[in-house]
Amino acid sequence: MPLQFFKRKGDNDLKSVPGADIYTSPYMKEGIPLNTMPEKSRLPENVYALLKDELLMDGNSKQNLATFCQTWMDEEVHKLMDDCIDKNMIDKDEYPQTAAIEARCVSILADLWNSPEAATTIGCSTTGSSEAAMLGGLALKWQWRKKRQALDKPADKPNLICGAVQICWHKFARYFDVELREVPLEEGKLTLTPEDVIARCDENTIGVVPTLGITFTCLYEDVKAISQALDKLQKDKGLDIPIHVDAASGAFIAPFLTPELEWDFRLPRVKSINASGHKYGLAPLGVGWVVWRDKSDLPEELIFNVNYLGGNMPTFALNFSRPGGQIIAQYYNFLRLGKEGYREIMQANMSHAQYIADAIKSLGYFELFYDGHGGLPGASWRLKPGTNPGFSLYDLSDRLRMRGWQIAAYPLPSKMDDVVIQRVLVRHGFSRDMADLLIADIKRAIDYFVKHPITVPLTREEAGGYAHN
Ligand SMILES: *Cc1c(COP(=O)(O)O)cnc(C)c1O
Repeated sequence: MPLQFFKRKGDNDLKSVPGADIYTSPYMKEGIPLNTMPEKSRLPENVYALLKDELLMDGNSKQNLATFCQTWMDEEVHKLMDDCIDKNMIDKDEYPQTAAIEARCVSILADLWNSPEAATTIGCSTTGSSEAAMLGGLALKWQWRKKRQALDKPADKPNLICGAVQICWHKFARYFDVELREVPLEEGKLTLTPEDVIARCDENTIGVVPTLGITFTCLYEDVKAISQALDKLQKDKGLDIPIHVDAASGAFIAPFLTPELEWDFRLPRVKSINASGHKYGLAPLGVGWVVWRDKSDLPEELIFNVNYLGGNMPTFALNFSRPGGQIIAQYYNFLRLGKEGYREIMQANMSHAQYIADAIKSLGYFELFYDGHGGLPGASWRLKPGTNPGFSLYDLSDRLRMRGWQIAAYPLPSKMDDVVIQRVLVRHGFSRDMADLLIADIKRAIDYFVKHPITVPLTREEAGGYAHN
């Protein structure tokens, strides 16, 4: 619910005076109703000034180390976003070049993820990984149902197997009536194991979703081991269960930093992959991708044909109208950075994350949970178990906010909900200098708590807890 700031009784009919100084205009001096539409029009520069000032109350995104989403862009991306403000992704015939660029992005990603049919396979842009996950999940459900119907067997109890997934999979399961068989996180068992997957498989399993870059922990799940276990299950029991990889973040990191890691279409059982263009894809907010291994993995019944330059353009999406700028910006990044650029950016991100992890460890108060090696460019830690240093991680996040830092502190899910961790994510736009500033601020905050120990620690609710996924 939006906060009700400065609700006023009515519009006092304050006119903006052309030529007047912005802050001496009646509008700025007296204020205006904010929750009702004013009767009169205003000068654009006055309204702009008002909104610009209000937006200062938002956190500063560069210091937001809680989000995976990209917040820094080349100047040229800002220009392209402006150039594309009027492009509607669904109008394939009005904006055929935008549509062509979207298709090129799909081919680039299919190739990056080693599809055997990269040039001809099918895929699409979405508003983010969440929509992409819905589409991937729906394709699994449809394929499964067709198989069941062909065997004349009931198809009313689909289930999907996963580990500690992002909330979008809970949404998928609820919105589309699929039972989610979620393997809980346990101490010492932080990723989905092949045994846990196999134990939950049956003839109603529409697919398995491993995550490449778990939001809670930054770890990669072992897609290859899960795929091999499913191969064996097929041999033993005849169950042929496909994999969809949720690689929201990892799909733009693993291909550059660990190209030998087989998590993608090199594994024949991987039928589809989703990724967030607006996370480590480095595009501005509002773009995700889903790509199928080859055309036959997307059931035709899910495709709607939109008239396109006299021909037919297949579309598969939950939305109709959607902005095109993010997709153009995604393609700009592919062309501008190339594989070399992505590799260097991801390497720099990883090295900053590892640097922060080392510094945190040397402070003596924390136990590293993830040290920035082998997964996403981030670090996470908990307070050393059994110690009481005079502050909680919520208190620490709260105090760091005084210097503008937004650092997620949250309990882990399921069986590990008694473990609270703090996590930082490093993104393009972060420097070694900023890492040093952060570390100095963490030390300063701890020094403060040593002098002024907290007697009643903040709870999660009081701390506000920045979104961590
Ligand atoms: C962020 C994330 C999502 C959701 O992606 P959006 O692009 O924010 O919709 C899904 N899965 C994982 C693993 C994520 O990290």
